[in-house]
Amino acid sequence: MSFQYLNQLPSPAEILKEYPLPEDLTRIKKERDAAIRDVLTGKDDRFLVVIGPCSADSEDPVCDYVSRLTKVAEDVKDRLIIIPRVYTNKPRTTGEGYKGIATQPDPEKEPDMVAGMIAMRKLHIRAFQESGLSSADEMLYPENWSYVEDLLSYVAIGARSVEDQQHRLTVSGFDVASGMKNPTSGDFSVMLNSVYAAQHPHHFVYRGYEVETTGNELTHVVLRGAVSKHGNNTQNYHYEDIMRLIEMYNERDLKNPAAIIDANHANSNKQYQEQVRIVKEVMHNRRVSDEIRQMVKGVMIESYIEPGCQKIGDHVYGKSITDPCLGWEDSEKLIYTIAEMAE
Ligand code: PEP
Ligand code: MN
Repeated sequence: MSFQYLNQLPSPAEILKEYPLPEDLTRIKKERDAAIRDVLTGKDDRFLVVIGPCSADSEDPVCDYVSRLTKVAEDVKDRLIIIPRVYTNKPRTTGEGYKGIATQPDPEKEPDMVAGMIAMRKLHIRAFQESGLSSADEMLYPENWSYVEDLLSYVAIGARSVEDQQHRLTVSGFDVASGMKNPTSGDFSVMLNSVYAAQHPHHFVYRGYEVETTGNELTHVVLRGAVSKHGNNTQNYHYEDIMRLIEMYNERDLKNPAAIIDANHANSNKQYQEQVRIVKEVMHNRRVSDEIRQMVKGVMIESYIEPGCQKIGDHVYGKSITDPCLGWEDSEKLIYTIAEMAE
């Protein structure tokens, strides 16, 4: 056998017992989940801003970052709901490179999955405790979800996972907002099929159990740009792209049509400063068209304390070790601009 079985992981129940979410935070999460649900179902016309580093690589700078969001979130709470990105699992295009705190609690050391599951849970709890804001994460490995399922208010399925059956079926069992990204090829029908799958009930195997799910009506789409067959980045945040999305949504029987625009990745071609212009364009288009206003219910922004990115081992505090991010000053300014333009 070519697998080497190294360790058996503690069960999610064991880890949850050892690192429980304090009661006051459980209450806040319930309120935030309900508010986000109302945005997606159209009962609340506030706008979602999912914002934070590409990867949550280290507790101190991530908690410093999310705590900065607290005051801003309070200032704009009538118009925006701020959801910090605390991304603990990173998909890698070739399988090489840093795979997130859940795999490597220390980016400069070897993978350690037992320590990683604990680091992932502890980071989410501390970030929530210090900011008062429950966070978003990508569900890269469906089996790992159980270690954080009581903590997250937003779950994304990445561009490389969105066509996978186990991801789609697992989302069908969530009761929080779940964003299906367009695949790297950019095909909207793949993305909408994944929304259809996740919105319906399923019967399958999950973590060694035969399970049934009810379907998740809060599943929606996230547009992150694409790569063409010639290898160029193509954007999908423009007016015409959203109109095409609306048309395709209308042809399908899907609940709560909604899109979040991811301003980085192939939409910015990782020119992270462009996120400011891209988000402003999206907000402008919402003003121009009521249909777009109803469809686009949020943006996703990659942002950290320092602008840009660095190599692992450079040790600049609060600077991304994966995708380049907008720095704090520009991010703060942009959130206030979004609030003004969301009126
Ligand atoms: C991310 O959000 O950092 C990410 C990896 O996104 P995508 O799946 O769109 O590449
Ligand atoms: Mn990223």
